[in-house]
Amino acid sequence: MNDCIFCKIARDEAKAEKLFETEKSVAFLDIQPRSPGHTLVIPKKHVVTITDLEDEDIAEVFKTTRAVVQILKKALDPDGFNIGINDGRFAGQDVMHLHVNIFPRYAGDGGKSIHSIVYNPLSEDISETAARIRTSANL
Ligand code: AMP
Ligand code: ZN
Repeated sequence: MNDCIFCKIARDEAKAEKLFETEKSVAFLDIQPRSPGHTLVIPKKHVVTITDLEDEDIAEVFKTTRAVVQILKKALDPDGFNIGINDGRFAGQDVMHLHVNIFPRYAGDGGKSIHSIVYNPLSEDISETAARIRTSANL
């Protein structure tokens, strides 16, 4: 039996403030919102990271993400959004069911951009990084 909390929310076995639902995805308010309207979008199928998602699920997760942004824009009138995934334990993922965070941003809310998450500067030129990636991926 899968006791993942987000699977339970997807199956309506755990309570959540659901905002939007499709055949393969669901959006609900984060229980500990970092900003008013902080919403999570998940695939209903249990996967841990973005690379585990199948094509038809990834399309629906991002269509739902767009729909939720439109819904929140209308309802809460934020000034912008940060949208992101903590992908893997070392990136801060706590609930190991893939979820897209939608953070509505409001002028003067004190938040920063996604770039503020990490600053781990390179010790090489980006052309060397690019070459290593291309070689490894046969690009
Ligand atoms: P993370 O796995 O670190 O990317 O974040 C997990 C997020 O899920 C946090 O923002 C939690 O507040 C949120 N969360 C955990 N359990 C629930 C729940 N039952 N309902 C809604 N949000 C939840
Ligand atoms: Zn799950």
